Amino acid sequence: MDINELLKGRKNCGCKKDHKCEIEHVRIGSGVINELPQLSRKYKNILIAADNNTYRVCGSRVAKLLEDKTECVKVFDGPGLLIPNEDAIAGLSACLTQKTDLIVGVGSGVINDLCKYVSYKNNLPYFIVATAPSMDGFASSGAAMITNNMKTTFSAHVPAAVIGDVDVLKEAPIEMIRSGFGDIIGKYSALCDWKLSELVNGEYMCKYVYDLTYSTVERTKQLADGIEKRDAQAIKTLMEALVIVGIAMAYVGNSRPASGSEHHLSHYFEITGIIKNRGYLLHGIDVAYSAVQTQKLRQKIIALGTMPDKTYVFDRAKWEEHIRKSYGFAADGVIELQDKLGLYNAGLEKIYREKWDKIIEILKQAPSAENLCGVLDTVGINYADFEKFYGRDVIDDAVLYAKDLKDRYTVLWLYFTLFADSK
Ligand SMILES: [Zn+2]
Ligand SMILES: [Zn+2]
Repeated sequence: MDINELLKGRKNCGCKKDHKCEIEHVRIGSGVINELPQLSRKYKNILIAADNNTYRVCGSRVAKLLEDKTECVKVFDGPGLLIPNEDAIAGLSACLTQKTDLIVGVGSGVINDLCKYVSYKNNLPYFIVATAPSMDGFASSGAAMITNNMKTTFSAHVPAAVIGDVDVLKEAPIEMIRSGFGDIIGKYSALCDWKLSELVNGEYMCKYVYDLTYSTVERTKQLADGIEKRDAQAIKTLMEALVIVGIAMAYVGNSRPASGSEHHLSHYFEITGIIKNRGYLLHGIDVAYSAVQTQKLRQKIIALGTMPDKTYVFDRAKWEEHIRKSYGFAADGVIELQDKLGLYNAGLEKIYREKWDKIIEILKQAPSAENLCGVLDTVGINYADFEKFYGRDVIDDAVLYAKDLKDRYTVLWLYFTLFADSK
């Protein structure tokens, strides 16, 4: 797959949209970090951002490569993990001057989100030099920040350049490499949800973007063996997949091709983990487990055979009680969002009854939970660890109430109508 071809965009697509992606350069390969001076030649006053670890891994090299025009090197060196919150935003913003014309982030998830957010707010371009193939946000326009103790994805912009030097990426902690792989495997669930929403809600769907994402996931799935061995070619293909998925999101203008019920579960674990001080797993690891979980839900629905005569009658008071129990101080925002959306009163049950056979047909297209578990096992992501970490009660709550965090239809809504009563 030639990523630079994808960067040119796609006019007159079958979905009647013109697709584009504003990223100027993507370089993925061995030694590509050395192209930085050339790629940044039009900039004169550069702010480099890294944390303790990423500075050691390759931030110092980036600073050396850009020595003559580096205005400031900001290394976040707090005691714990860097969190993309108000303090970090203020810390990075304080390094900007009137002259700054480029921010170069050296890192993965948090550094990428932070640089994306601050550069966007200050109307500056940014580059990301990836240090781990850990998630799919490099090429996307959303910045996942934690403000007011809540995880919120702000719409920002894409980087001007993504640099993934395989010599650096393959030395990343194995958990981060697994996380990137898990984030990609989660797309099976996201893509199935997209199709389901097209059928149930008439949501916009682009077959080209769907196929692009699906084929990228299939290619990555074959790599499981090489991923665990840090094989350079496997790591390169994984990084490419993470970037292609980002481009797919840019093409449709939202995260639909890459994020569905599995991401909603993972966000539930993250947010309630913060609120209840329980902790949570790395993003892509959570997504991988959650994709197995949402697939189990699809299989439970398929096993029904026909649509039951009686389905769950929405009980507002009971629902509110559950939302308050799950989300604590963040519950008001969740309730407000769902009141605005109105999916509980959208007459979904009638649509399900009318389209049941087609719904089942779509659900059957996703790979089975057993298949996903087998692939994930190969890279050391074991589903039993997921149940051990969160416990069945928390996972069951997530299955019923994670959907309420978002304004996006997924299989979780269908599952709720069919099975909420049984809890
Ligand atoms: Zn299209
Ligand atoms: Zn993700």
